Amino acid sequence: MHSNLSYVQPTANSPWGTYLSQVDRVMPYLGRLARWSETLKRPKRALIVDVPIEMDDGSIAHFEGYRVQHNLSRGPGKGGVRFHPEVTLEEVMALSAWMTVKCAAVNLPYGGAKGGIRVDPTRLSQQELEKVTRRYTSEIGVIIGPQQDIPAPDVNTNAQIMAWMMDTYSMNTGSTATGVVTGKPIHLGGSLGRVKATGRGVFVTGREAARRIGLNLQGARVAVQGFGNVGSVAAELFAEAGAKVVAVQDHTGTIYNEAGLDLARLVPWARSHGVADFNGSERLDNEQFWDLNIDILIPAALEGQITADRANRLKARLVLEGANGPTVPEADNILASRGVLVVPDVICNAGGVTVSYFEWVQDFSSFFWDEDEINQRLDRIMVHALNQIWDTADRHKITLRTATFAVACERILTARQERGLYP
Ligand code: NAD
Repeated sequence: MHSNLSYVQPTANSPWGTYLSQVDRVMPYLGRLARWSETLKRPKRALIVDVPIEMDDGSIAHFEGYRVQHNLSRGPGKGGVRFHPEVTLEEVMALSAWMTVKCAAVNLPYGGAKGGIRVDPTRLSQQELEKVTRRYTSEIGVIIGPQQDIPAPDVNTNAQIMAWMMDTYSMNTGSTATGVVTGKPIHLGGSLGRVKATGRGVFVTGREAARRIGLNLQGARVAVQGFGNVGSVAAELFAEAGAKVVAVQDHTGTIYNEAGLDLARLVPWARSHGVADFNGSERLDNEQFWDLNIDILIPAALEGQITADRANRLKARLVLEGANGPTVPEADNILASRGVLVVPDVICNAGGVTVSYFEWVQDFSSFFWDEDEINQRLDRIMVHALNQIWDTADRHKITLRTATFAVACERILTARQERGLYP
């Protein structure tokens, strides 16, 4: 791990440190393009903004907001906005860089960006949440736009927040700019299939990986960490395909059912209560989650969850990274040496940005597609991208993560080289 930037001090397992070591691993496969590789190790722009609002009790609160555009060589920036009390500039930088790699891996005409506010949204009233969202949008308004950088939902943000962002940007520019964000409500230029797209992409890549390693989904035992937008949808699709979702962990705790959890009841329950105390499950200690006898693990919460220790204990044959950056580099080595196949975040969870791309295209053309068409196109793009990555991994005898970086970084750096340096 190696960083030349003065404004972050990454450690080996921190998000930016993890990303840098992933870039270092792909260098030997970049040939002459490696000359341009420093461009991957520094964001193009990182904006830090103050977000002051008047709270319901009359006090003034200040929150720290970020928007990072990691690389715009292949197109406008694309990436979500996260509301979380522990968001940092370093985390947003890493998330923006993974967006650059992800968009290139599925060959979408985007660069990578990400945003965040250091706030606990569960402690805000609806009115305070709207104020934070609108002020943040105004502050980052100088660098976002339908052709500049297009935010989307991430942890703790949703279609309503995207509607406020779209409205704020539109008010500030005297337009109705539906294409400035994706993940919007359907009647505001949102796309059918977007809400489930990331979980669906996790399922599609997981289905293909399972087929290739001869793992039958019928009766396969699945554990899911994080039961929000990504984790719950992926769980439902695996259950529909005949798998048994035996364990789920979220911020409220860990639950288990040997016969498979009843997702039709669990999903609505978890939305309002979290998974803990779900009737029809046994409660486990959080750390026991990593020792379970399972076939497939879907981390779909936050970064840094699969540590070296947990990687050594894991029984799964297949890890599907719904979350961004869930596996630290040392754990990656351990999983590879133990023969555990990891479908990395930068392809596994690319379904969300792929349907965001469909949404953006539909907004520009003002012509909307039906859900079957969206799901079929998503399936095709994900399978095609995974096949290319698999071939690259076989050719060089490297992990799927390094292969995804190889495919993506070749596209990013070729664009960089063709554009040339200005001036
Ligand atoms: P979400 O807010 O809908 O859900 C997050 C889930 O993680 C919740 O169930 C929460 O309880 C759980 N969680 C939080 N802290 C936890 C902890 N310490 N231990 C266990 N569980 C914990 O968020 P989401 O949109 O589903 O995003 C989840 C992950 O997927 C993130 O890494 C995000 O960057 C990534 N992702 C999301 C999208 C998208 O379209 N939403 C796209 C690509 C990647």
